[in-house]
Amino acid sequence: MVTRKKVAVIGGGVSGLAAAKAFKERGHDVHAFERTHDIGGVWEPSRSYPGVQTQSPKDLYRYTDLAMPADYPEWPKGPQVHAYLRSYADRHGLNEIFSLDTAVRSMTRRPDGAPGWTLELEGPDSARTEDFDFVAVCTGQFSDKNIISHPGQEEFEAGGGTVTHSSEYTDPEMIRGKRVVVLGGSKSATDIAVNASQNGAKSVTLVYRENVWRVPYFIGGINFKRLLYMRAQESQFNGWGRGPLARALAAATKPLVWANFRGLETLLKLQLGLKKWDMVPDNPIEKDVSCSLPIVTPGLFEAFNAGTVVPIRGTIERYEEGQVILSTGDRLEADVVVLAVGWKLGVPYLDPAYREKLIEPDGQYRVYRLSVNPDLPDMGFVGFNSSFCSVLSAEMIANWLVRYADGQLARQPSRAEMEADIEANLAWRRGERPAAQVYGGLCSAPFHFRHLDELLADIGATKRKRANPLAEQFSYPDAAAYGSFLASAPQYRAG
Ligand SMILES: Cc1cc2nc3c(=O)[nH]c(=O)nc-3n(C[C@H](O)[C@H](O)[C@H](O)COP(=O)(O)OP(=O)(O)OC[C@H]3O[C@@H](n4cnc5c(N)ncnc54)[C@H](O)[C@@H]3O)c2cc1C
Repeated sequence: MVTRKKVAVIGGGVSGLAAAKAFKERGHDVHAFERTHDIGGVWEPSRSYPGVQTQSPKDLYRYTDLAMPADYPEWPKGPQVHAYLRSYADRHGLNEIFSLDTAVRSMTRRPDGAPGWTLELEGPDSARTEDFDFVAVCTGQFSDKNIISHPGQEEFEAGGGTVTHSSEYTDPEMIRGKRVVVLGGSKSATDIAVNASQNGAKSVTLVYRENVWRVPYFIGGINFKRLLYMRAQESQFNGWGRGPLARALAAATKPLVWANFRGLETLLKLQLGLKKWDMVPDNPIEKDVSCSLPIVTPGLFEAFNAGTVVPIRGTIERYEEGQVILSTGDRLEADVVVLAVGWKLGVPYLDPAYREKLIEPDGQYRVYRLSVNPDLPDMGFVGFNSSFCSVLSAEMIANWLVRYADGQLARQPSRAEMEADIEANLAWRRGERPAAQVYGGLCSAPFHFRHLDELLADIGATKRKRANPLAEQFSYPDAAAYGSFLASAPQYRAG
């Protein structure tokens, strides 16, 4: 059996829970740290805005061994997801290994030169350092707010205006009777704009920079999971590592692929009325699909039509007292400005010398299988891979990572193999698929199946697909089935 390691898990969201379970199950001595007062990450209620719900349908947003409750809606609300994550932690005895209100302030190599890392931990009452043999980094992509400001903000605030980050919009009371400007075009921006318009804001303006493709929960009346989440759809995108045969096949089927995506675009344009709102994106949809593809907030286009949310394409140029001045020249009377401008991706606590090895100057991450870097021994990421089925992919990566850490992958990569794969993947992101560069390149969408296939193959799972090849091509990933695929992996080797 492998040596028992002392393992640190940083972060108590979806990914931290998956990592804690995977390492605990293999008999390691796991210590998990969450800087807030509760587990749940982005789903912890005090961190999410009112009305938040998943983008993924519930049977795609789940761990392999625990379905979401049958009485949950197809797209569960934030508190429901939080309750689900709590039940997962209870089920697997994870609460005992989590230290809450405990932040990791720094992560450096051990002073004694031994493998592993020293973490500087700040708890509710004291700070301390502790050594670990392995660290699973599960701090996600939504932990450090992207704070931006524009000239005149102080004057605006001195005059009674409020400027706030989207994550601080947790109570509609703050916008009741107010004139609200939301900056941003992502899902959080549109969610907040619609929520404010339905909760007593005097007016809501959505200021966004770029037109992007958005997918509604139902496309032409069909749940989007039945149209978009399938191998048959995924294989039409230009994935990594295509050899001459795959390229020849892509060339031969190009007209069909073209027609498929133009058909989808036409449906979206008609259903959402994109032309009427001058919201047709410039890029073809197949070029844009990545983890940043937003789901249409229910009620968004209805709010445009009713005039309760007014969209303006542009950005904020500056503030004056009581006003927001846009790049379009528009002057908006405003009381509250919500900056839905996202998050800073990073590992701020990691020793800068190692951060340099991990992150390229253009922000791209050097990671093998979206998890490990050969220059950063004894650590791996779980859940930095943003996708449309993040819970399943976090669990799969966690299972891959524990085997990697224990030297028990069926295909344990050498340093040279990892380096070559990282370089090839970077070249693909930069040259062939720029959309894959979002989130530092840590996005597996739209290649969910491909990514999971690679992990399962590395693990040595004998079962990787459904028995029925047609169902396999045209069905969304079945989380429970992935549990049985994992179970088909070989036992640990003696050693
Ligand atoms: C509003 C919203 C809706 C979403 N909907 C979907 C969806 O439908 N489908 C989907 O697949 N994905 C969705 N996502 C993406 C979502 O981020 C992932 O699904 C998943 O919840 C990420 O979990 P995580 O554990 O990786 O990160 P997080 O949930 O961000 O958890 C990271 C945790 O690490 C903690 N932490 C950070 N730094 C430190 C530190 N230094 N020390 C200790 N603890 C630290 C944080 O407090 C946090 O609790 C959504 C995201 C948002 C914001």
